[in-house]
Amino acid sequence: MTARAVLELSGVERQYGQGDMVLSILKGADFTLRAGETVALVAPSGTGKSTLLHIAGLLEKPDAGAVAINGVACAELGDEARTGIRRRDIGFVYQFHHLLPEFSALENIMMPQLIAGLSKAEARERAAQLLDYMRIGHRGEHRPAELSGGEQQRVAIARAVANAPLVLLADEPTGNLDPETAGYVFEALEALVRQSGLAALIATHNHVLAGLMDRRVTIEDGLVRELD
Ligand code: ADP
Ligand code: MG
Repeated sequence: MTARAVLELSGVERQYGQGDMVLSILKGADFTLRAGETVALVAPSGTGKSTLLHIAGLLEKPDAGAVAINGVACAELGDEARTGIRRRDIGFVYQFHHLLPEFSALENIMMPQLIAGLSKAEARERAAQLLDYMRIGHRGEHRPAELSGGEQQRVAIARAVANAPLVLLADEPTGNLDPETAGYVFEALEALVRQSGLAALIATHNHVLAGLMDRRVTIEDGLVRELD
């Protein structure tokens, strides 16, 4: 039996205006991510990986086409409903960690849980578990500036999954790290995704790391194409 689609992009188009030129980045892209599935998005710079991930994560709207999260069509929804789905169903990891600098690692991971209505004690316990899982349990009280790049990304990953989303979207999460650090951060990410049964779409330039995922796709001429 095929697992249900948790993310479905159909006919997604996106253009950017540059002066009086129009740059067509996505030209009717289709992509389906199923429950529990991991997919690597491997494509050269400038082909539209971030654009696709932002549209999938409801951070941007497509110019045409549809985005469904867990079967819910999101294009027609208002901002409030989109924000609700984004908070509940989607975890996002950026290339640069985007942690809140004035809060500790633990507090950064607690934040989305508190917004979702968990108690402080519950949020703290879950945050501590996630930090332990990422093998940085001893760094919880430190602020982002006191952490290494690899530690910062592991905190950002823990924050993205703190509310147990359906879909994890990661935009070159290890692109900013040296190869060795990138390797263990990516492996930690993969283990966490597998253990929690998340579906994940992860943009990466690293073919070895992409090989850890269930399948690989690329963006070619504005469309998503299966690799291998
Ligand atoms: P990737 O993540 O694969 O490197 P992006 O999705 O960031 O690609 O960008 C795809 C193309 O769209 C690039 O040529 C980029 O310059 C352009 N682009 C992205 N965002 C904007 C924007 N807000 N305005 C104009 N052009 C943009
Ligand atoms: Mg990008």
